[in-house]
Amino acid sequence: MSARNTNSRKDVIVVGAGPVGLSAALALRSCGLEVTVLEADPANRVRPGSRALFVHRESLALLDRASPGLAPAIAGFGVMWRTKRTLLGGREVYARTYPELPPGRIPPFTSLRQLDTERFLLEAAKVAGADFVWGARVTAVEAGPDEVLLTTEDGATHRACYVVAADGSRSTVRRSLGIAMNGPRSEGFHTTVDIAEDPDDPMPLERTFHYEHPGLGWRHVMRVPFAGGFQIDVQSADGDRPEEFATEEAVRDWLPRVVPRKYVDSVTCVANYRFLQVVAESFADDSRRVLLAGEAAHLFPPLGARGMNSGIADADAAANAIALALSAADPRQAGAAVERFDATRRAAAEANRDAAGTALAHLRPRRRITRLRQRAAAALSPVVPAFGEWLEQATYGPKTPRPHAGRY
Ligand SMILES: Cc1cc2nc3c(=O)[nH]c(=O)nc-3n(C[C@H](O)[C@H](O)[C@H](O)COP(=O)(O)OP(=O)(O)OC[C@H]3O[C@@H](n4cnc5c(N)ncnc54)[C@H](O)[C@@H]3O)c2cc1C
Repeated sequence: MSARNTNSRKDVIVVGAGPVGLSAALALRSCGLEVTVLEADPANRVRPGSRALFVHRESLALLDRASPGLAPAIAGFGVMWRTKRTLLGGREVYARTYPELPPGRIPPFTSLRQLDTERFLLEAAKVAGADFVWGARVTAVEAGPDEVLLTTEDGATHRACYVVAADGSRSTVRRSLGIAMNGPRSEGFHTTVDIAEDPDDPMPLERTFHYEHPGLGWRHVMRVPFAGGFQIDVQSADGDRPEEFATEEAVRDWLPRVVPRKYVDSVTCVANYRFLQVVAESFADDSRRVLLAGEAAHLFPPLGARGMNSGIADADAAANAIALALSAADPRQAGAAVERFDATRRAAAEANRDAAGTALAHLRPRRRITRLRQRAAAALSPVVPAFGEWLEQATYGPKTPRPHAGRY
């Protein structure tokens, strides 16, 4: 379908076909609503990097409710490790292996590249009847009391009763509506390196968090498996510059100090990701017609995998709010449904930001005493296993809230 001939008013337009926009399209279709997705990129795009790997059980459950069978399909493709290991300065301080999962259960999480998750979501959204307009970059938004008018780069206009803005961290929709993002923007970053697994001699299927890795100048290094490979994630230290870690040449130099040398030739992507902790001041515009979801509304450090997972919960909540608003008896009730979405998901985002911020403060402590406490915990962990467990769990931040807390 060409962008120029889509001018009839839709129930809902979703801006952005990332994981959150696709989840919103699915959830909206499951409410029986007509949905068009406007995506800036072309249909045959290949998004680089593994990005968000973990899909939590709660996300799988939401997706499965919108599209029955999707959870086992995604989990069947992803991998789940049963062993978690934590080291500090080259010495193991914690290891735990969970029992095997009984067959037929939704796993507690699955790990796959974001582009693979998106492939499953896109296929399901198309089967569910969502319309897609690719190469349609939204450049302007006018939200009024009855409808929203979106203009795309080619000059075409698109009208909808409601819009879900899932156009990512640089959201044009959010900026057009003048909605600010609040919160700290740390100078820190992490570098992620995706590596294709050697099927004949793979690394153990376990997640390893190594505090103060001796091979990398005492920086923290994590290894996370995903379907077909694994990600090495290095946390920057104060004063680090991205080019010292995040170029292909730099990776060839440091990678053999953390994994066997053979993997130097299996690197598929190197990326750099800044630690932001920002949340939109409102998740809906003044007219209560545009609902923000995912990175258009919040950016967290990836610790605890709260970004994409809470975005999927935003998408589900936005769909429920829009379904209620469209069936409301009067405009006041419709507005109240969107206001409830705004309040619930903004509170959830603020709680997620704080939880990810707690993990970040643990890993990039401002005070020397915090680092000393971690070393003391590591030294005592052989006699007091709870200290090792603390070191393991603190890397995710507090257990509550879960990324999905704040259901609509
Ligand atoms: C380099 C990198 C590394 C990352 N690493 C991790 C990680 O290790 N762990 C983790 O949890 N998360 C990570 N993330 C974050 C994770 O990728 C996001 O949480 C997730 O992509 C958010 O999904 P989203 O759908 O909200 O936004 P996006 O995935 O950004 O999707 C937005 C979509 O909107 C489209 N779009 C943008 N503007 C417009 C417009 N004007 N009109 C129409 N369409 C538009 C974009 O093309 C895109 O398809 C990483 C991100 C990056 C960039």
